[in-house]
Amino acid sequence: FPCEVIRNFSIIAHIDHGKSTLADRLLEMTGTIEKKDKGMNKQVLDKLKVERERGITVKAQTASMIHSFGDKKYLLNLIDTPGHVDFAWEVSRSLAACEGALLLVDASQGVQAQSLSVFHAAKDRGLKIIPVLNKIDLPAAQPEVIAAQMQSIFGIDPADVIKISAKSGIGIEDVLRVIIERIPPPQGKIDDPLKAFLFDSSYDRYRGVISLVNIQGGALKKGDKITSCYTRKRYEVVDLGIMYPEETPTTTLLPGQVGYIACNMKESSEAHIGDTLHRVGVPVEPMPGFKPAKAMVYAGVFPVDSNDFLKLEESIKRLTLTDRSVEVMRESSSALGQGCRLGFLGSLHMDVFRQRLEDEYNANVIITAPTVPYKVIWRDGKETFISNPTDFPDVTDSTVQVREIQEPVVKASIIVPQEYLGEMMDLCFTHRGEEIDHRYLDASGSEDARIILTAIIPLGEIVTTFFDRLKSRSSGFASFDYEDAGYRPSKLSKMTFLLNGKPVDALALIVHKSAEDEVGRAWVKKLFKVIPRQLFEVPIQAAVGRRIIARETLKALRADVTAGLYGGHYERKLKHLVNQKEGKKRMKKVGKVDLPQEAFYDILSTK
Ligand code: GDP
Ligand code: MG
Repeated sequence: FPCEVIRNFSIIAHIDHGKSTLADRLLEMTGTIEKKDKGMNKQVLDKLKVERERGITVKAQTASMIHSFGDKKYLLNLIDTPGHVDFAWEVSRSLAACEGALLLVDASQGVQAQSLSVFHAAKDRGLKIIPVLNKIDLPAAQPEVIAAQMQSIFGIDPADVIKISAKSGIGIEDVLRVIIERIPPPQGKIDDPLKAFLFDSSYDRYRGVISLVNIQGGALKKGDKITSCYTRKRYEVVDLGIMYPEETPTTTLLPGQVGYIACNMKESSEAHIGDTLHRVGVPVEPMPGFKPAKAMVYAGVFPVDSNDFLKLEESIKRLTLTDRSVEVMRESSSALGQGCRLGFLGSLHMDVFRQRLEDEYNANVIITAPTVPYKVIWRDGKETFISNPTDFPDVTDSTVQVREIQEPVVKASIIVPQEYLGEMMDLCFTHRGEEIDHRYLDASGSEDARIILTAIIPLGEIVTTFFDRLKSRSSGFASFDYEDAGYRPSKLSKMTFLLNGKPVDALALIVHKSAEDEVGRAWVKKLFKVIPRQLFEVPIQAAVGRRIIARETLKALRADVTAGLYGGHYERKLKHLVNQKEGKKRMKKVGKVDLPQEAFYDILSTK
């Protein structure tokens, strides 16, 4: 396949607008996968169990297909992208390997928050954008109205919009045709020195790292000796091929092609995303690389049974081989024992990782409340980042040399029908939003006009309850996206929870001044509910510095658990004692208070 018959493209869209379904249809129409019952949603590219269950794409996947058009055969390389903001990093990786993108918009829902952000990401990279309206089979579809909307928002000519139903298969031929007609072919030449752009990698227990590459120039064959611009390490290519849609070996990868290579890379850290590979002794100008993914949400992960720590750590290590954007450190807590502190791109990323741990490694885990990285500026001008509440300085103590605390903020965009404007403004206010602004998205002032609302909101507010409230207060109509907006000074302090006067380290939180009372009371109530009564009275308190914010008191348990079981109930008594012994293994002592490890699970897993 010479360059002129190759097309590299991505499908970009807001979540649920139909990327995976369209990908399936394209693969079927080109005979790459077998056609099953019409309308069935196979989602070939969503390989992870969690992706199938949640219907979201987490890891970008790649598939090649061959399509005859006119008198030629074309090689079409599809690079699927995730739809959620947390995975924006994956999106930018995928786009760098393409010349064009299908911008897919749901014809019943119209342009949503992530349609905007992926559109700009593709446009900034200079990609040819093909507008596609999906779900025209739905009774609520308004293709003409939404096409007009795309014109006013993106400047897209309505005549260029392709109207399809990925579910029922309408218009898929048109999509294939415009991919070939409108997307420019890649530019590489076979006589150029080898230049391969590494845009993704995965890990295989037997073959080591498998890298996905896009050949920018030259050709790559089995046995070729290559080297990395980034690490300068040398490798020999042992296997290569295209994703059709599974790995299919070929003899060569030619300019413009997208494929996989295995070259005895042992450590996943050797495959640097954004790296350029070239032939040993024939250096090339490296491609501009990527900014590494930055963890923005941190949480501690502990085994429910502390004996399982090594198993948990091993599972985490293996999972991070396939998800390199997770940061891992060891952490130990007096309440929860040994665990790991993990850094994630966002809270959905965190949920997905937890679910993968549970699905793929059968691990039961306790995850502590999520924290964002705070910046502490000390009186001597030094700055430190703190992502663990335990390390947060006591700002109420005047001998502590803190000049200022700053927190990460984001620029949030919310798209919503105008009738919800008031609710959404209030939502932003109650989450400490600033610079709240709005404008109409649609040109006319029609009744069902929609509004885009923007605000600067602390990231810490977004990783907790914001998204759930956004959905419920807009009856599900609001869509939401955000981008990094740096750091801002803030009045934050550490809240600790005391049992019988002793702080429980795993429960410390960073709280804004305005929320201290509410948060303190809510958590103390929650603790009161799940902590078992002891033989003595136990005060449960929330404190900021020395100040007690809230308190509940657990009454003493009167008598021994076996009291009243004496006499004929011997068997019951025995069983009770055995249960107690079992329980003891999992008991944690905080001060003099016995706490079952499960109590932490209950406290931390309810919102
Ligand atoms: P993704 O999140 O963009 O990958 O979206 P999916 O492909 O998973 O689709 C989201 C939902 O929309 C699924 O329930 C699909 O069955 C449904 N869907 C996708 N395309 C169409 C379509 O053309 N018509 C209708 N009625 N439903 C569709
Ligand atoms: Mg999908």
